[in-house]
Amino acid sequence: MSFARWSQVSDVIPYGRQWIDDDDVEAVARVLRSDFLTTGPAVPQFEEELMRATDSRHAVALNSGTSALHAMYFAAGIGPGDEIITTPMTFAATANAALYLGASVRFADIDPDTGNIDPDRVAEQITERTKAIVAVDYTGAPADYDRLRAIADRHGVALLADAAHSLGARYRGRPVGTLADASALSFHPVKPITTGEGGAVVTDDDVLARRAARFRTHGITKESAELEAGDGPWYYEQHDLGFNYRLTDLQAALGSSQLRRLDQFIARRREIAARYQSELADVDAIELPVTPTGIDSGWHLYVVRVRDAERRRVFFDGLRDRGLAVQVHYIPVYWHPYYRSLGFERGQCPVAEDWYGRAVSLPIFPALDDAKLSSVIAAVRETAATL
Ligand SMILES: *Cc1c(COP(=O)(O)O)cnc(C)c1O
Repeated sequence: MSFARWSQVSDVIPYGRQWIDDDDVEAVARVLRSDFLTTGPAVPQFEEELMRATDSRHAVALNSGTSALHAMYFAAGIGPGDEIITTPMTFAATANAALYLGASVRFADIDPDTGNIDPDRVAEQITERTKAIVAVDYTGAPADYDRLRAIADRHGVALLADAAHSLGARYRGRPVGTLADASALSFHPVKPITTGEGGAVVTDDDVLARRAARFRTHGITKESAELEAGDGPWYYEQHDLGFNYRLTDLQAALGSSQLRRLDQFIARRREIAARYQSELADVDAIELPVTPTGIDSGWHLYVVRVRDAERRRVFFDGLRDRGLAVQVHYIPVYWHPYYRSLGFERGQCPVAEDWYGRAVSLPIFPALDDAKLSSVIAAVRETAATL
């Protein structure tokens, strides 16, 4: 059985997609034939490799990016009455995970050039209840961590990263994983590497890592140094109210195999982005992404903005008609009815709302080859000419 570079079931080109090869299949098959299906030796092995990839002292693998955010917030001490400040230009999970803990969310508007959280707007949202600033590396481009760090330190709050898009990216030479007090990764199939479902918290903070690891398994510990009592070799204690958020060995083995190709994946994403940047530069109807100096993006997404918001729907439908399964990232989180029921109203982050109204994510994923990419670029040019 052989796996094509990109085995398609239809001619539709998605905005993002995994790349599974024979090594990945073999790695999972080896686990299936072994003694451990759920957490066994493959999980700590994957965690070791994640530490190396992110230059971090600890990695805690979890069963989704969402559970990684939940565990990270819990481990950072976020609880009832606390607030986090984050961007509305993200997947809802970034904010939801704070609500799970009884905390509340304040949204700070985005920078109109990068789409990332604007540090000036973050500073305006700080209150005496703020516990953490949560940056999201939107599209794979790290947020402005030096300025966010200065604000976090001035107010004595944590700086956390939702790095679901940005494994493998760099900020001023420093890798994602080292930019915040802790960072949450996602291994969903469209993300930089995949385990099917999966995620991780990476951090240099010993206490935060221990708390996240306990949270993953019901808040239970078996470490003798942590036990309050001791009754025998079977004994363990539950210290926190945690969950079953464990990654399986099947997934961890896939993650290790994928991580070996991370550099190759990112290099290909950069090539695709570079072709879009040069071959769409003269298309007046759309604005291309702007990457500030010092940012080496992982290019999880390639988001263009239609100049005339009134024409975004025409552009989107035209691309879909030409076989491109484009998407829009993101609906501002506080627009969702659930958030409206909490009292949020439209209009509070006008830059994010303008961004949402004009954004379209074009296909970008490592298995997209040059011939397919040429056809995508032709379709984008053709569609833009109708605007
Ligand atoms: C994908 C994603 C998540 C959630 O990750 P899952 O692995 O799907 O739970 C959180 N935040 C952002 C920004 C994401 O893109």
